[in-house]
Amino acid sequence: MGCAMLLGRPAWGWGPYGHQLVNGAAVEALPEPLRGFYRANREHLEALSMMPDEWRASDRQEGPRHFIDLDRYGSAPNFDIPHDYQAAVLKHGKAKVDSNGIVPWVIEQRFQQLVKAMKNRDAADIVYQSAALGHYVADIHVPFHATENYDGQMTQQRGIHARFEEGVVERFVKSGSVKPKPAKEIPNVVVAAFDWAAESLSLVPDLLRADKEAQKAVGNLDYDEVYYNLFSKTASGIAARRLNDAAHALASLWFTAWVKAGRPPLKPVKVANPSPFLIGNKFNRLYHLATCRWLPSPETRVTLASREQARQGGYRPCPYCRPSGSK
Ligand SMILES: [Zn+2]
Ligand SMILES: [Zn+2]
Repeated sequence: MGCAMLLGRPAWGWGPYGHQLVNGAAVEALPEPLRGFYRANREHLEALSMMPDEWRASDRQEGPRHFIDLDRYGSAPNFDIPHDYQAAVLKHGKAKVDSNGIVPWVIEQRFQQLVKAMKNRDAADIVYQSAALGHYVADIHVPFHATENYDGQMTQQRGIHARFEEGVVERFVKSGSVKPKPAKEIPNVVVAAFDWAAESLSLVPDLLRADKEAQKAVGNLDYDEVYYNLFSKTASGIAARRLNDAAHALASLWFTAWVKAGRPPLKPVKVANPSPFLIGNKFNRLYHLATCRWLPSPETRVTLASREQARQGGYRPCPYCRPSGSK
């Protein structure tokens, strides 16, 4: 049953708008000379911000990488979960730890991959790892990614997940309101990630209460503009704050990775193609760079590992992004 529930949890996150905001705004919180490189690649960082959600279609293990149900381990400030993954598995068993969500450890892993990319001075990989890291960092800052009542299903408030992270964000959060504080070094990435999750969880009761009150005042379950105006009085402030916190955390991780890698010089140049993946369209059989502006809709997308695989599958290169000549 745990398994069925897990598979049933949809690909939530901030939604494309929120994820783009976080990846883009983080750039401006960086110090020079790092900022120049990230500015030059800002478009890529935004375009690739949803990638990890797309991996769910082909990888059954991807889902739990986007959340951690912290309240399954007790309550703040004493969560009964070791910060070390192996220690956590030893204590609770792998099945439980994995199904409760593993986003803090995924952030640590992605961070290490970014350090490696920086040490190798591999500009394309730096952009790719930075974008993927941004997705998980944004997710861990969503209150409903830190609780077992992740969709209000335990309190008769089903749908609150999307009402908060998409409904409120798209209606009330202006892109200019995400202006994160300057990046700072993070001494311990896993410890920081658990703190971000705990902060997320602490905001859940206020959101549940605001949703209940808005429902009561409206008197139906239509979730129209009247509902959103009421819910947003609490929710839009929380959403803006968490987007800012996420962008600050992300910039801090990028900066810390760069320091750990020995502050390699990075030229402020846009890389040609940061993603090792290509994206195919099942229907018109075109394939694209992951950064193409004419990508197919998510339902018709296939992730392809190489040009060779694309050719064998009968795919032709997109005339706009010209994926055949790029790698
Ligand atoms: Zn996600
Ligand atoms: Zn294309």
